[in-house]
Amino acid sequence: MKQYKIAIVGAGPAGYFTAQALQKAQDDEITFAIDMIERLPTPWGLVRSGVAPDHPKIKTVSKVFEKIAKESGFRLFANVELGKDISLKDLREAYDAVVLATGSTIGRKLGIPGEELSNCISAADFVPWYNAHPDFTNVSVDLDADTAVVIGAGNVAMDIARMLALDPSELEPTDTASYALEIFKASKVRNVYICGRRGPEHAAFTAPELRDLPKLENTDVYIDSDQINQAVIRVDQMGEVEKDLRNNLEAMRLIAEHSKKGVDRKLNINFLAAPKEIKGSGKVEEVVFTINEVKDGKVVATDNTFTIKTGLVVTAIGYDAVEYPGIKIENGRIANIAGHVEHNIYVTGWAKRGPVGVIGTNKSDSSDVVDLIIENLKEPKNSTGVEGLLKSGHEVIDQVGWEKINASEVISGELAGKPRVKEVDWKRLISLGTS
Ligand code: NAP
Repeated sequence: MKQYKIAIVGAGPAGYFTAQALQKAQDDEITFAIDMIERLPTPWGLVRSGVAPDHPKIKTVSKVFEKIAKESGFRLFANVELGKDISLKDLREAYDAVVLATGSTIGRKLGIPGEELSNCISAADFVPWYNAHPDFTNVSVDLDADTAVVIGAGNVAMDIARMLALDPSELEPTDTASYALEIFKASKVRNVYICGRRGPEHAAFTAPELRDLPKLENTDVYIDSDQINQAVIRVDQMGEVEKDLRNNLEAMRLIAEHSKKGVDRKLNINFLAAPKEIKGSGKVEEVVFTINEVKDGKVVATDNTFTIKTGLVVTAIGYDAVEYPGIKIENGRIANIAGHVEHNIYVTGWAKRGPVGVIGTNKSDSSDVVDLIIENLKEPKNSTGVEGLLKSGHEVIDQVGWEKINASEVISGELAGKPRVKEVDWKRLISLGTS
């Protein structure tokens, strides 16, 4: 029987699914001692700080993560930062394999004039802000204007637009950060525009998320039915297309056609609107868009523009992976070949394939990386794990420590009628997790 030591860096979905694939691959000949290393004092990655608070069902995958964490051979080392508390070189030497599951957390830039204006916020800041991520509590969000613009036609844009367009009473029973909830309650925003630069047929939304929009209780959702009809004609001319595309267009058609409630909260989805410039003196005041058109299957700019007066712009146009000393970034991802980085270092999840796919996509991705690791394993190393690499006195939050934080948050949530009240202060999180 051989036991291999595997370090997984990043305690998000990709990290947990890698641990699960390793656990499933154990047999009479090999077992794995898995050390999961996480920069934050808390695990679960985007399930904690990315998934929209009004979609609690998606967060139930955390039950799977906790089951994985209870398996023998699994250890959590939270509050340990790669590149600061521990080096990749040391990990490489101490472990038989190191899997980077560090995600993509840097918001991409539009690269247009005015992006630096105040109240032009990247989704990479806005989403963790409303999700009580301890590093984002001080993001300055001003919801004092009637109109907000969200740029991008993906599910993150949709999450953000919903958060802005919902009646805040709907967020009361959720785990939205309490400081953010107060700002949403005082919000003057009543018109939210999602703007996609290409056509409805190119949108990155997924059908289940689109189908939820007409069900919003206090918000009317608008899509121009002409834009959808024209997209359907273009798609019909393409011959056979993926079922997902048809489902998306059908879900959009239902949004365009469903009867409106006549409420004052409106969410508008615009297509073929490419941001050209954000204007304002010091703070966002309007966005100028180039009107695009689809010609011979290609999206091209017209000479026409239109403007939306707005007090807030949120850009939800994708993310890039964080760079670590000794790791190369290519096209926003950790440079890799099918998950192999170099030596005994591997990568999985968004850091590997870029910021695409839902939580479940990480399952197959991680299982492929584990197959590759197993193929390349040599004789097990004889070394201590993370504990031998950290400075003495470093405050690690282990699984028991995390369970204390978790229990405390859930108890506070029960008292407040919420799934949990997240602790947002680093020091308090560490003291809860190490007491
Ligand atoms: P995404 O799905 O890739 O969408 C990004 C959007 O930004 C696209 O519409 C893209 O348009 C647009 N964009 C990129 N650069 C732009 C620019 N310079 N100007 C204007 N628009 C630009 O990314 P995401 O929304 O961040 O989501 C990431 C992943 O997480 C996706 O796979 C998503 O499905 C998943 N997710 C899932 C859920 C859920 O299941 N509920 C929730 C959130 C996120 P082009 O196509 O023209 O490039």
